[in-house]
Amino acid sequence: MTDKQQNILIIGAGLCGSLLALRLGQRGYNVSVYEKRPDLRKVNISAGRSINLAFSDRGNKAIKLVGLEEQVKSLCIPMNGRMIHDVHGNTFQSNYSGREYEFINSVSRGDLNALLLTEAEMHKNVNIYFNRKCKSVDFEKTTALFEDYETKKQFVEDADVIIATDGAGSAMRKSYYLGKKFLFSFSQDYLTHGYKELSILPDEKNGYRTYKNALHIWPRKDFMLIALPNLDGSFTVTLFLSYEDGEYNFNNLTTEKSVLEFFKKEFPDALVIMPNLLDDFFKNPTSPLGTIKCSPWHYKGNTLLMGDAAHAIVPFYGQGMNASFEDVVEFDKVLAQNLKTWEQVFKTYESNRKKNTDAIADLAIDNFHEMKDHVAHPIFQKKRKLEMALEKEFPDRYSSKYSLVTFNENIGYREAMLRGRAQDKAILNLLTNDEISLEDDLKSTLEKVMKETEAILEDDRIAGLK
Ligand code: FAD
Repeated sequence: MTDKQQNILIIGAGLCGSLLALRLGQRGYNVSVYEKRPDLRKVNISAGRSINLAFSDRGNKAIKLVGLEEQVKSLCIPMNGRMIHDVHGNTFQSNYSGREYEFINSVSRGDLNALLLTEAEMHKNVNIYFNRKCKSVDFEKTTALFEDYETKKQFVEDADVIIATDGAGSAMRKSYYLGKKFLFSFSQDYLTHGYKELSILPDEKNGYRTYKNALHIWPRKDFMLIALPNLDGSFTVTLFLSYEDGEYNFNNLTTEKSVLEFFKKEFPDALVIMPNLLDDFFKNPTSPLGTIKCSPWHYKGNTLLMGDAAHAIVPFYGQGMNASFEDVVEFDKVLAQNLKTWEQVFKTYESNRKKNTDAIADLAIDNFHEMKDHVAHPIFQKKRKLEMALEKEFPDRYSSKYSLVTFNENIGYREAMLRGRAQDKAILNLLTNDEISLEDDLKSTLEKVMKETEAILEDDRIAGLK
């Protein structure tokens, strides 16, 4: 049934859709991809959000699967850790791992997407059509209704299987929801914070105005600013701020004076290197942040949701794209089982995958609080120092929660979450009770942390969390 003569229709040629098209093309399927926007390789379209992204090992596993590791590497800027900026402009760096070879990367969304499109199109059996917006999907008939933005005409496409990778606002997910033909559960939770993109431009010699190989964070408890480097010497800066709470918020920052006042007070060292702040601030949109969960992801053997269309998450773990890429790896694993029907493929994929995407959604919310607040606390900083030392001294025995999530692509997000949360609790308990300290012998500290972690995991098991 899953034979390769069949026609697979993919809706959305973003990061997940273009990677999926490439992989299915490599496997020999007939693939048609319909994308609502123009071809980003020909038209300069501002994606309108997150110009660059943190790319790490789970995403790279997918990139390796399609044989593009070296090409993607050339688009990446390594970020070894977080560079924390306090209100006085003092900085300190906190590495992501005690193992030198573990770091994350900043990559341009547009460059990565363009590479995947080009590689997918090299396969004769893959065709990509731009300026075609999906309006709805008839999941019983396996057809999709499109509008052609160039001719303004509507048309219906028929396929053997439809996979929607059309992002957080998925048209197919909407059809599942509105169709009321099966028990479809859906939740969308907004944060009370939104985000706005700003920039630090290169200096006169096209150099970086601040340290290049870090993810910069200005944590301010209830809000924060972050910056990721781009290959051209600039940084993409993102302000995460409440829409209505606090002295300064997106709703009341309406004048140049108040924006400057806010930045002078909270981010003085950033302001110095952001002469274009006001232009950016009033030109760029403020966008909301939300988590989308739904189930089932598939309707029989006809249709399947993948990537953000199935599980959009807030961006604080830098994992949304990585998780969407990992979807393709997991889907590919199921295809390799040569199951008889698409329904079996979709069911198996979903039952393996959903617990893990639910976990990264929750971890991403945890990290929101960690980045804007905890990173500035002494006890948290002590914990990170200790974890770095443990990872350095015992590279095969200890991995922090961050490392488990980001650098351990061979375990699922759920396992990383359960173990990582237990370890966090264990270290914080032991530090608070003075049972371990930075001065102690590391071997005995590791034993104590492991023992306490196991006890917490055992409690979790008894409570039915595992
Ligand atoms: P998308 O990238 O949204 O692609 C969907 C595609 O479908 C688009 O090309 C769109 O034009 C097209 N489309 C939409 N509707 C239709 C339609 N009706 N018909 C046809 N085509 C359609 N992830 C990370 O891993 N690291 C990060 O650092 C990171 N930072 C982020 C920062 C921000 C501010 C945000 C918002 C997200 C961030 N993410 C990050 C998450 C990441 O952007 C997403 O998880 C990723 O883009 C999901 O890929 P996707 O292909 O599923 O969806």
